[in-house]
Amino acid sequence: MKIIHKPRIMSGLSCKIKMQHKTIGLVPTMGALHEGHLSLIRRARKDNDYVVVSIFVNPTQFSPKEDLKKYPRPLKQDMRLCKKEGVDIIFYPSVEMMYPKDYKTYIKVSKLDEVLCGKFRPGHFQGVTTVVAKLFNIVSADNAYFGQKDAQQAIIIQKMVIDLNIPVRIKITPTVREKDGLAMSSRNAYLNQKERKEAVVLYQALKLAGRLIKQGNKNSADIIKRMQYLILTKKSAKIQYLAIVDTQDLRLVSRIKEKILIALAVSIGKTRLIDNITVVP
Ligand code: AMP
Repeated sequence: MKIIHKPRIMSGLSCKIKMQHKTIGLVPTMGALHEGHLSLIRRARKDNDYVVVSIFVNPTQFSPKEDLKKYPRPLKQDMRLCKKEGVDIIFYPSVEMMYPKDYKTYIKVSKLDEVLCGKFRPGHFQGVTTVVAKLFNIVSADNAYFGQKDAQQAIIIQKMVIDLNIPVRIKITPTVREKDGLAMSSRNAYLNQKERKEAVVLYQALKLAGRLIKQGNKNSADIIKRMQYLILTKKSAKIQYLAIVDTQDLRLVSRIKEKILIALAVSIGKTRLIDNITVVP
């Protein structure tokens, strides 16, 4: 397994691989790898000749108030996990390599970045699309893997790839959960014992909504109210948003007729967590 720091070296190696008509699968991550990331890596390993995992805690997707500094960076452990999963290359650039002093270019996918998480994290998705587009250009991947856990991110990246004619196939893989249903996330490490127990309410609320829809309830406002009641039984929980939206354009759905995305962001203590499910009525 190679560790590459410089974009120029990464591009050169990708070029050599492509000349041999081999395929490259890219798994973009911010590190602190867990089973959710590993599921993407395993899928990439199955589909491609070469697997590149990028590890980059991207500063442009954090607002000044967010946890950029304290975001976990257990590089040695990440390297060990990647090696075990048969990753060929870890691309681990520095901030200066990705954003040199005179950096000026940003990519914005309009509208889709203004709802759900975008409403509460202005500039976040612009940071994500910019870094992901850079990674696509540096790595020249045939396939790139993203988790359903970050549904809005996946939808926005898919749209960017279509709109900008970027020659990469986007593959979305299911959310990996802890035994009790909590979606795996590097940020779960911030939760104390009590918060960790209460955090399961996010998934419980999504499951409740799913059950109600399957039982024939089509009224989003009513479903959201019931989710709210359930979540607020937990002392440490503070709701940022609960929404039932279209799976393509993320527009709010008030009467549920076809497949929808139920998405939420809830702070448990000081830790902001997100989760989602899709439901077909
Ligand atoms: P991150 O390191 O948090 O930026 O995540 C890197 C990739 O892993 C993104 O595509 C995420 O959607 C995906 N991911 C994170 N957590 C999970 C999870 N629990 N299940 C599946 N994919 C995940």
